[in-house]
Amino acid sequence: MHSISYERANDVDHAIELARQPGTKFIGGGTNLLDLYKSGIEKPVRLVDVSRLALSAIEELPDGGLRIGATVSNTAAANHPLVRQRYRILSEAILNGATTQLRNMATVGGNLLQRTRCYYFTDPTFAHCNKRNPGSGCDALEGYNRIHAILGASPECIATNPSDMSVALVALDAIVHLQGPGGARQVPVAEFHRLPEDRPQDDTVIQPGELIVAVELPPAKFTRSSHYIKVRDRASYAFALVSVAAAVEMDGDLVRDARIVLGGVAHKPWRAVDAENTLRGKPLTDEVLAKVAAAAVAGAHAYKDNAFKVELAQRAVVRALQTAAGGNV
Ligand code: SF4
Repeated sequence: MHSISYERANDVDHAIELARQPGTKFIGGGTNLLDLYKSGIEKPVRLVDVSRLALSAIEELPDGGLRIGATVSNTAAANHPLVRQRYRILSEAILNGATTQLRNMATVGGNLLQRTRCYYFTDPTFAHCNKRNPGSGCDALEGYNRIHAILGASPECIATNPSDMSVALVALDAIVHLQGPGGARQVPVAEFHRLPEDRPQDDTVIQPGELIVAVELPPAKFTRSSHYIKVRDRASYAFALVSVAAAVEMDGDLVRDARIVLGGVAHKPWRAVDAENTLRGKPLTDEVLAKVAAAAVAGAHAYKDNAFKVELAQRAVVRALQTAAGGNV
């Protein structure tokens, strides 16, 4: 039988001190960790409960930005008046994820760390999964890979990141605040998740013993003209086949600036920088949108069951941009 100890941290320093023991996992809402623990995929020897730390505030910053504590629930973040007013795309993305009950439990920090829903990762009866068991291979490569990546994958892993929230956070240039044995540091959300390369077991750049303490949103730039679209197999409680966070800043009929970030297509939220560059200075005509959509999936590589995602992603980019711009007029 696998034994496990449980400790409740008094404050952030105490949590970090407790996490010095190898095999420690922080637990907030536990919505993903406990599922993985029950199926034998996560095997912590110690759980450090951080759910009651003083990290549950949403505070306006002097520069007009917003700081969201790591233990703020997904529900509280999505429904906060300032998030709804200034960062609507974040509220939309969070409310597209999971169910009300799960959003009530899940935390902002935990959402950033949720693990892939690749069937072969979440079911330990499959023998070959480099993410679960490094060096064992990847059953998804020749298996049923309908939900898998079309961008940025590697022969080691073709899994996708499941978070809706993180896609919007990348579009908003958000920053993750971390605290750990080496002190405090900040990482842009765009650089927080990583591509699989030859280390698919590492979803993010977080270091052992580091704790997410907050997410910072810079002053809102795309308040009026943004949209999050999620395409999935059923209307709720399903992960994205493809999602798009799109935001535009218009100058008359021309796009002055844009953000286009795709979810469900890669091991991390996929910012489509070439597509954004294609759009800047142009009108949102059908011809331009077709070029932008093509740029968004440049370099895509489909597997046996997911070629449909290449066209789906392009259509979702067009729809998201059109809807985002519609809020500008
Ligand atoms: Fe494991 Fe990644 Fe392959 Fe899925 S795609 S089986 S997570 S290595």
